[in-house]
Amino acid sequence: MTSAAIARRETVDALRTVRELWGELLLAIETPPTDVWPPRQLAHTLRASDDEPLVVEDRAPLVLREHPAPLNMTALDTGLAVERLLFDLADTLAAAVQRAGTGDARRWEFQQPGAADARRAAGSRTHGLHFGSVWIEGRVLDEDTAPEQQLNGTPTAPPFDPLPPHLLHEARRTARVAEGRLLRTLGLDERHTPVPDRPCPWCAGELILHTGPDESPSVTCSTGEDCTAPASLDERGRRVWKWGDLVTLITALGAADTHVPAA
Ligand SMILES: [Zn+2]
Repeated sequence: MTSAAIARRETVDALRTVRELWGELLLAIETPPTDVWPPRQLAHTLRASDDEPLVVEDRAPLVLREHPAPLNMTALDTGLAVERLLFDLADTLAAAVQRAGTGDARRWEFQQPGAADARRAAGSRTHGLHFGSVWIEGRVLDEDTAPEQQLNGTPTAPPFDPLPPHLLHEARRTARVAEGRLLRTLGLDERHTPVPDRPCPWCAGELILHTGPDESPSVTCSTGEDCTAPASLDERGRRVWKWGDLVTLITALGAADTHVPAA
């Protein structure tokens, strides 16, 4: 693969991760910062099954919203920073490869600070992060850069030029910075964290929570195969609760919780 193809793929991957995690970040803003346990994703699963509908409105950009009482300032700061990174990147790419021509819905509209109404002032930013990220992905993949035909058969110039290499690399750098910041804020970067105050319900060994950007959280017991938990062994001989088994572990810990006072 050429270096451009690699850069393209890495950029697209990072942008998709950002979109996938965006709803998670919006939830985090409205949720007090969590302890290690239970893992954030699982907390949401449990809450969703608790009759509380999980509604994520992720269209309006954070920068245009009211935040009367964010419960997690770190998450809000990250959200605003990620929006700024991607919106500014879209501005940069649009300035370089977007051809003049109006009325095309594929255009990225710049901010118009002087405009009277807020939506026009924000330009395409008003459509939110998801839109901006998809738009950037289109430029990174050189979409809509071939001449197009009108209904009467007349060829017209495409709305965009292909992205020059230096901007492809700029896009990759920015998308990966945004992705990394989201993963860290959500505690989804690669980590192996001892679970405090909650020993293994079967052997009292130390439980370790494993998270990573490309994997569902899992928990292992440090005791090894002598642990009597009804769980499979991982490649290092530890009892492991994978994503689908974690509810079992949570239930067992909940039963144990009534006997173990929190430190
Ligand atoms: Zn154990």
